[in-house]
Amino acid sequence: MIAVLKKETTAQQLENLTSWLKAQGLDVHISHGKYQTIVGLVGDVAKIDDELLSSLEMVETVKRISEPFKSANRKFHPDDSVIEVGNTKVGDGNFAIIAGPCSVESEEQIIDIAKSVKASGATMLRGGAFKPRTSPYDFQGLKGDGIELLLEAKAITGLPIVTEIMNANHLPMFEDVDVIQVGARNMQNFELLRELGRTKKTILLKRGLANTIKELLMSAEYIMAGGNENIILCERGIRTFETYTRNTLDISAIPVLKELTHLPVVVDPSHATGVARYVKPMALAAAAAGADGLMIEVHNNPKEALCDGAQSLTPEQFDDVCMSVKKIIG
Ligand code: PEP
Ligand code: MN
Repeated sequence: MIAVLKKETTAQQLENLTSWLKAQGLDVHISHGKYQTIVGLVGDVAKIDDELLSSLEMVETVKRISEPFKSANRKFHPDDSVIEVGNTKVGDGNFAIIAGPCSVESEEQIIDIAKSVKASGATMLRGGAFKPRTSPYDFQGLKGDGIELLLEAKAITGLPIVTEIMNANHLPMFEDVDVIQVGARNMQNFELLRELGRTKKTILLKRGLANTIKELLMSAEYIMAGGNENIILCERGIRTFETYTRNTLDISAIPVLKELTHLPVVVDPSHATGVARYVKPMALAAAAAGADGLMIEVHNNPKEALCDGAQSLTPEQFDDVCMSVKKIIG
């Protein structure tokens, strides 16, 4: 449920309204927009009398929100959210370019890649330290040591770092990580989402392999319900019957998400296609469709990569993608 306030509402009136609503056991979400202030009510709103709320002096209109996601809903927060990550921003015209290897493999590898992606225009460095692999016999990541190496690359390049968490017990190791990624396989790990909701960390939430847009937004809602609104959504392709690509990039998810939510939406064309030569066209399509950023896997030696070499771009190919993307985003 939302209450749109009249322009002349004073701070005192807003406070009175907020405490009245909170006294009824509701969470109150206030959005001071460019043109309007909107009060979003979360919780058991069934007991709220629409007519009583509408009749209050400062209230212009009252609407019930039919979608099950509330805090993530654009109706609650009509303006795009801007998420600040270190010295960079994502959303509302701020385009993020997150690049780096699938997994951190060595000091030399991550520092070398970090320097080259930065030179091409990346705004954040990615690299997996804890890797969710389909086979338990595949490289599982350098774990805590991988995070240390990312921090070293951050100290050298100044790029904020993005890395995936698989277990909430590992949170202490992520203290200096700028963006915590929740991978596709954990999108509905609700205990993990709840734990992340108790932090103030920026969360990059990837869409699950077989999850709907609504389910992605409900997962964001789990994090937001705990008080953490720093979320970047990531479309990374979904599983379909097609086999020429690793997944099928759902480009239409971009405009749909932009309509439904105020949260920024980035696209990962690497996991979406699984094939390096398809990454550029999909990156351009995503930028043209209104994405707020891209996440691209880059390796200094894709043939020798311990993970996802086939979809990894060389630094030169990544540079070429960046130049073309910049022409689209202006
Ligand atoms: C990744 O980004 O390294 C990753 C494992 O991606 P996803 O969770 O989208 O498969
Ligand atoms: Mn990968």
